Amino acid sequence: MKPTIQKAINEQINAEIYSAYLYLAMAAYLESENLPGFASWMKIQAQEEMTHAMKFYSFAYDRDGSVELEAIKKPQTKFNSALHIAEETLKHEQEVTKLIHNLHELAVKEKDYAFESLLKWFIDEQVEEENNSKNLIDQLKLAGDTGPGLFMFDKELGARKFVDETAE
Ligand code: MG
Repeated sequence: MKPTIQKAINEQINAEIYSAYLYLAMAAYLESENLPGFASWMKIQAQEEMTHAMKFYSFAYDRDGSVELEAIKKPQTKFNSALHIAEETLKHEQEVTKLIHNLHELAVKEKDYAFESLLKWFIDEQVEEENNSKNLIDQLKLAGDTGPGLFMFDKELGARKFVDETAE
């Protein structure tokens, strides 16, 4: 594996773990707002991000790479509402999509076809992630930011179960 690819993978592992950290910070806020369903949804979201980090990690070692971990930066910890969380989630996922697209451009430039193939999975995953965040925003707007609507929607979000989509 070329050093440029290994470096990019190391950076993306960091970005995925940062995503997990950010979603856990969001979960912590939601716990304090008495929204256990949405908090549980976010904890699953954080778990999913760790599986993304591990997919890059495993890919590196499948190709005799060597992963070097860097410090994870502190995530945002102050939020205004459940809707604000959903909006920040969409913004974050749009940033991650850009990172994935940049990695794909690098794979093409370096003619690393295996990396390109891995990134196809992530490109599709980002379509799903952005769509989930948009649905979350729409549904929270319908439910309203307080009262019985939000209470019911929180219960619904609590039904989400963790599925490891990276498992073959
Ligand atoms: Mg991710």
